[in-house]
Amino acid sequence: MGLTRHIEGRHSNSITDVKFTVALMGNPNVGKSTVFNALTGLSRHTGNWTGKTVDSAAGFMKDDSGIEIYDLPGCYSLDATSPEEEIARDFIMSGKADCTVIVCDASCLERNLNIVLQTLDITKKAIICVNLVDEAQKHGITVDGNALSKLLGVPVFLTNASKKEGLSELSKGIRESVSAKHDSPERPQCPPASRWKDAESISKLVVSTDTDAQGARQLKLDRLLTGRITGKLIMLLMLSLVFFITMVGANYPSELLSRLFDFLLESIRSGLNGLCVSERFVSAICDGMLSTLMTVVSVMLPPMAIFFPLFTFMEDIGLLPRIAFNLDRSFSKCGSCGKQALTCCMGFGCNAAGVIGCRIIESPKERLIAILTNSFIPCNGRFPTLTALITVFFAAGAGVLSGITHALILTGLILLSLCAVFAASKLLSCTVLRGQRSSFILELPPFRKPRIGQLIIRSVLDRTLFVLARAVIVAIPAGLVIWLLKNCGGEVSWLDSLVGMLNPIGRVMGMDGVILMAFILGIPANELVMPLMLMIYSGAGTFSGFGAESLPLILSANGWGLNTAICVLLLMLFHSPCATTLLTIKKETHSFGWTFLAFLLPSLTGVALCLVFNVLWQAFGLS
Ligand code: GDP
Repeated sequence: MGLTRHIEGRHSNSITDVKFTVALMGNPNVGKSTVFNALTGLSRHTGNWTGKTVDSAAGFMKDDSGIEIYDLPGCYSLDATSPEEEIARDFIMSGKADCTVIVCDASCLERNLNIVLQTLDITKKAIICVNLVDEAQKHGITVDGNALSKLLGVPVFLTNASKKEGLSELSKGIRESVSAKHDSPERPQCPPASRWKDAESISKLVVSTDTDAQGARQLKLDRLLTGRITGKLIMLLMLSLVFFITMVGANYPSELLSRLFDFLLESIRSGLNGLCVSERFVSAICDGMLSTLMTVVSVMLPPMAIFFPLFTFMEDIGLLPRIAFNLDRSFSKCGSCGKQALTCCMGFGCNAAGVIGCRIIESPKERLIAILTNSFIPCNGRFPTLTALITVFFAAGAGVLSGITHALILTGLILLSLCAVFAASKLLSCTVLRGQRSSFILELPPFRKPRIGQLIIRSVLDRTLFVLARAVIVAIPAGLVIWLLKNCGGEVSWLDSLVGMLNPIGRVMGMDGVILMAFILGIPANELVMPLMLMIYSGAGTFSGFGAESLPLILSANGWGLNTAICVLLLMLFHSPCATTLLTIKKETHSFGWTFLAFLLPSLTGVALCLVFNVLWQAFGLS
């Protein structure tokens, strides 16, 4: 595989002349990306769990020295058992780097020394960056950098990358190393089996440890969070709490944004009318493109702006791998592995991001299972419809009580979708993806204090705005298509004709043609589904003007009952992945066949569940 193909995150800045190349490598979760960001001034994703870095990124050191740094994916050894390790190994073996900086975790140096020794065997010049010294100190661990440097014959720098401590010395060391004429001194090559012994004896000579009160506390907390019953209970409570905060917090800003956009839309409309352009043109712009765009933003932005920082908080303190640990047994019973839980967590934000995240799963079979089932997890774009329907049909009481009922029902739906992930994974692993289950090591990272500034920047820039920008890109053309369908076709618009055709199918599924049409037109972005339904029902031809208060009235006027709401909730949970996710699946699997299966699986599940539910509902005469 070509090296440049892997360097997906190349960032450009003013320097284009590469004088020297430096590779940044080491075990996962030791702070490589944090060091990379500090040296280059860039903002690569960092987070407290193993496996988040699945690609490489390149950037110039910000001191104008012309040194380009490659941040490689984390790896435990150069024996390459996973695609990320392959990327790192290929880069190191290519000899492209003038110097290799091996980042280590000061609190577990012995384990990190394996890759250090392996890399020193094959690189000309190397530097060791012993990072996380602050965390080691809290555990009573100190590393003697000078002694380590003498033993290994390479420069060693102690750093706390979070606080940028020791990094100016490190960058000076990098500059000196790349411009030095001589290579690192030759070391006798270690055979693999004695390498661990070497690591142990070196570590004994350079690491000193006091009693570790913090470690004991961490162990207690870990027992609680990963206990068979307590772990799952705490996980459920946390999930409900996150939903509660998101749902209660998002209502008010959503309402405000929607009013602001209505005002903006009317101002733009009168501005365009003043330009003497045709009425149809103004309508296509305002009622089609802009109104769709504004609906998507007002519905999506507030919950995302709350959910993503909460998610990043859980990621930063180290909860995600513990969730994966708790779910590992269930996933392994379904022929998959616990790492799939991490990709499911990412799917809550965005299924396309979840699909890309599946790269952390080494076994191709388990990776495919995780990719094909990720859309069973409701992404952020589906939450607005889920919550709107729960509010109208299920949430009893007012204020906090309604918020709690809301969060509990939503948690129930999430558990249902998780069960569907298990069932679909089992089905796949027993049929098209039969094969051996691979074993894997899931590292539980230490609990770390989140860096609030970083957390906000990352969740807003990397996640909220990224997902929003993508939704905006699909919302504008989708808005135009919807407007055309609504406004073309003479007396009965194309949209109404299509709805008429879908009506009989909708009825057997406990709904109607309008709902099915909204789901089909909503394939570009899930958040369009609810506004589309309302628009078609009201015959308005535009999205704007639907306040929360009009929702129950419109739905009941169009024959919605409790069974319709349940069927729509089921279909909202289980239907085709959105267009972006389908494209991402195609990219990741390089196969139309697997992409089609990823479309078919949740779609058939949703249709089947609605059919069965509706038949039972009718059979028991509940209508
Ligand atoms: P990578 O997987 O090796 O690229 O690691 P990251 O750069 O993503 O860092 C992993 C976690 O460790 C993140 O939560 C960082 O904020 C945190 N981190 C990185 N360096 C330090 C450090 O020196 N001290 C402390 N306390 N945390 C750090």
